[in-house]
Amino acid sequence: MNVLEVRGLSVEYAAPGGAVHAVSDVSLDLRRGEILGIAGESGSGKSTLAHAMSRLLRPPARVTAGAVRYCPPDDAEPVDLLTLDRAALRRFRWKELAVVFQSAMNSLNPVSTIGAQIDDVLRTHRTDMSKADRRERAVELLGRVGIDPERRRSYPHELSGGMRQRAVIAIALALNPQIIVMDEPTTALDVVVQRDILHQIKELKDEYGFAVVFITHDLSLLLEIADHIAIMYAGRVVETAPARSVHEAPRHPYTLGLVRSFPKLHGPREELLGIPGTPPDLRSLPPGCAFHPRCRFAVDACRSHRPGLLTTDDGVQVACALHDASVYAGDLPAELSPREETR
Ligand code: SF4
Repeated sequence: MNVLEVRGLSVEYAAPGGAVHAVSDVSLDLRRGEILGIAGESGSGKSTLAHAMSRLLRPPARVTAGAVRYCPPDDAEPVDLLTLDRAALRRFRWKELAVVFQSAMNSLNPVSTIGAQIDDVLRTHRTDMSKADRRERAVELLGRVGIDPERRRSYPHELSGGMRQRAVIAIALALNPQIIVMDEPTTALDVVVQRDILHQIKELKDEYGFAVVFITHDLSLLLEIADHIAIMYAGRVVETAPARSVHEAPRHPYTLGLVRSFPKLHGPREELLGIPGTPPDLRSLPPGCAFHPRCRFAVDACRSHRPGLLTTDDGVQVACALHDASVYAGDLPAELSPREETR
């Protein structure tokens, strides 16, 4: 059952040389209690998508089309977040949807203690809670994210980077939201702390039942924690599949390039491939498939036909001409074919 449905979402930035189409016609489903990973290189549109889903875009960015529907847990009518007025949006944020961004230092108030910042959220949204209840909740939340509750008296600059990011997660959890959008939440941290926090997010998700949209350029992280993964390229989703399928049998050449850019820790050795070239200028995309100048599988049709998302027999969504029999009559390369074990 979905908790969030993104439909046909497009976002552009007004710029002197012409509009930058950062997100184009993106549709995604976030199921209740799952982690949906969104991966892609810098400039693929994933952070713009996160901001648009959370109604945090600022000019010159603007949504030009689409809807972001929140489906309440009580089977009430879905709500399009893009149509909420300010007051409704204020009520909605934190309570139903919370956000965690990369730089905890930018999210936290530097002149307020961690405890006071948790208290602020509770005081604003839970007017039924007494001061003692709020203090108890702050202690509980800090304990749950692995921070000694005594540190609630600390200011952000007195905490390590990892502890600050944990504190932001504690604040995000304060009102038991249904959805947490996390945009590169562990990118600035060293790998050991990063792994610790990832596992903690997964444990918290299992305990509290919220769903997560987890955005990162590092696909290897998503393979560890995500249930489903969407791959973005040049503002569009080019593949959506269960994490295992993305790992074992990527269907889009770009996904294959991302998967083969880092070494596998288990199984037979595979040559590291990487992806040649650089992402395109979003103001003037190449004709046809935007990935064709970098794609080693490109055929003639790729230069004129822009592939839409098609659903394969085993439920993977992929936007590539090679999977579309109406455009390409040849055999699908073995590297882009489904594997028996992921069916
Ligand atoms: Fe490559 Fe063509 Fe598929 Fe684009 S449509 S990813 S260029 S094979």
